[in-house]
Amino acid sequence: MKYRIQKFQSIDSTNKYALENSHELENYTVISAQHQTSGKGRKGRKWISTDGSNLYFSLVIKQPEIKTSELSGIPQLMALAVFKTLQKAGIKKSWIKWPNDVFIEDKKICGILCESRFKGAEIDALIIGVGVNVNSSSENLSQIDVPATSIHVESSEKTPYNADELLHIILNYFDKDFQTWLNENNRNSLKEEWRNASNLIGKPVKLLDDDREIFGTVADFSTTGEIIIQTERGFQTFSYGDLSLRKV
Ligand code: ATP
Repeated sequence: MKYRIQKFQSIDSTNKYALENSHELENYTVISAQHQTSGKGRKGRKWISTDGSNLYFSLVIKQPEIKTSELSGIPQLMALAVFKTLQKAGIKKSWIKWPNDVFIEDKKICGILCESRFKGAEIDALIIGVGVNVNSSSENLSQIDVPATSIHVESSEKTPYNADELLHIILNYFDKDFQTWLNENNRNSLKEEWRNASNLIGKPVKLLDDDREIFGTVADFSTTGEIIIQTERGFQTFSYGDLSLRKV
């Protein structure tokens, strides 16, 4: 699939722009910016643009052939693409924190926010927003309210990374896996990749799902990207929530 990349020097939010203009944007348009003034996370959380050349982009997929019940697969596919890109850059300690982040050990390096525009019951446009810390220094990252890191900080490479090159690598991994996943018969192999990249199987976790707290152990993922937690009441499947690892 060929991407069309629209670049902005500075924008409020690439997801906001993509959502507002989705009706006229072509399939596989990528809105990319060097800086976001109001990068978004879930529930009004903010994605901070630190100094240095980083990645802030939103991929627009028009009329994707997926059901709303399958939407949890999308952030998993994009997180896997970022995970693979980090591995390729020689950064081995990364893992996917379900549902939409990539970490290096206990530090966040990437956040993903998926939003959709509907036409009736059908998804008219899917917007996959991604922020990756590429070249920020530890000093710049220390202004974020959670432990955060960048590719540059984690790597032994002292020259800055080319953010455009990384964008292409991420998009190519995503496209390959997305096309594979669209065929339901292929989904098990991607689920296996999510299991391995998450490093969460068997780990004790707490899931905050709206106002409920669920305690249990991660048992598996579904082929559509939900998490399956073994709780006192048996196996429970969740399509969203805030996950934290528990010390036992
Ligand atoms: P969370 O990952 O906390 O559940 P979220 O998934 O709703 O949040 P994200 O956009 O992934 O939304 O993350 C927003 C959160 O990530 C912020 O609340 C902040 O704690 C942290 N954050 C913001 N900017 C960065 C950044 N550049 N690098 C790492 N972490 C960041």
